[in-house]
Amino acid sequence: MAYVLVLNSGSSSIKFQVVNPENEATDAPLVTGLVEQIGEPNGAINVTVNGEKIREELEIPDHTAGLKRAFEIMEDNQVGPTQLELIAVGHRVVHGGRLFSEPQLLDEQIESMIEDLIPLAPLHNPANLDGIRVARAILPDLPHVAVFDTAFFNRMAPAAALYAINKEVATKYDIRRYGFHGTSHEFVSQQVPKLLGRDPGHTHQITLHLGNGASAAAISNGRAIDTSMGLTPLAGLAMGTRSGDIDPGIIFHLSRQAGMSIDEIDKLLNKQSGVKGISGVNDFRLLRERIENEDSDAWLAYNIYIHQLRRFIGSYMIALGRVDAITFTAGVGENDTEVRQDSLYNLDMYGIHFDKEANLVRSKEPRMISTADSPVKVFVVPTNEELAIAQKSAEIAAMAREAGLY
Ligand code: ADP
Repeated sequence: MAYVLVLNSGSSSIKFQVVNPENEATDAPLVTGLVEQIGEPNGAINVTVNGEKIREELEIPDHTAGLKRAFEIMEDNQVGPTQLELIAVGHRVVHGGRLFSEPQLLDEQIESMIEDLIPLAPLHNPANLDGIRVARAILPDLPHVAVFDTAFFNRMAPAAALYAINKEVATKYDIRRYGFHGTSHEFVSQQVPKLLGRDPGHTHQITLHLGNGASAAAISNGRAIDTSMGLTPLAGLAMGTRSGDIDPGIIFHLSRQAGMSIDEIDKLLNKQSGVKGISGVNDFRLLRERIENEDSDAWLAYNIYIHQLRRFIGSYMIALGRVDAITFTAGVGENDTEVRQDSLYNLDMYGIHFDKEANLVRSKEPRMISTADSPVKVFVVPTNEELAIAQKSAEIAAMAREAGLY
């Protein structure tokens, strides 16, 4: 069987999976792993093979050491890169800027283009690039593919992609709405026409990726026309720890009145805001527990979250004109029955007939949670970004082989 190694490299961690690109979204990958606390004394490597968990605690000086040791652990368990039929390595890259609307076969030139995009994603792209360089050095004979989180949104119309700020400044500094979670929105939205029995070329839909980070997208005939995240993943919906949309004037106010530095404000809005900033917790299971214990801050955080979600759903219904489906995905979207019900509460006059019973069914499969005759269908579709990256990488790798590059 052919597999793809999917890597998601952060500054101090590497998440990886070995995935059969022919899998269904709900199939378990062959291997999942996490190299954590790279560069810290208390590093660890976790590898799960066929459901069996292996953990090794050790100091991991850098990404190279971490990935090499992870591969050795995989070899010890007969699922190492030399033992499997690996056809590609797929790398998640957060920012593709204006340059990339498709996955790319990695070479020095593409690497340096990703490097050029560092100013747009100073925290993410350098770490992604580290992972790419290390993996290409360890596995030089395999095609490596970069899959960009922004790519799905690269062709939005200027009216949706550009901000109403000074054009000269915006152009000079590449300021525009890039959007993120694109791999997930695309993957989920591609399953919806099948569930609807409709031609993908004639489907209008809203996808709601509600994880720790959260974003909404409006998709017309397979193409994204709007999305809630912006230049950075801070914009849009209220999230686990991020504020989502706020009046930009708040930043000047905090700077002038609170004397906060730009880095402090960055941290406040990215890490200490959102649901956590109001309630103290960002996990929706804990938030629910607190609401049940009549914690008023938890209730407020939840209501702000729902209010913001309904705002985006409403505005995308207008942007699309006609909506065939609204789909929930990711940790909160797939599991939190209340979030789904409350965000679509009382919208029958807009053709959304929510089915409360169907919403309560627990399942890992894609499912409908509106009534069968609802003009706007509502679905829960599990996302699987690693599988999507594996599929795209396998496709690019096959093209590279056909072209005689590998
Ligand atoms: P990430 O954005 O980090 O990839 P996920 O999509 O896995 O995250 O979502 C993680 C979030 O999903 C958790 O923080 C939690 O709020 C939520 N979540 C996970 N399981 C449940 C559940 N059973 N009920 C409600 N929320 C859940």
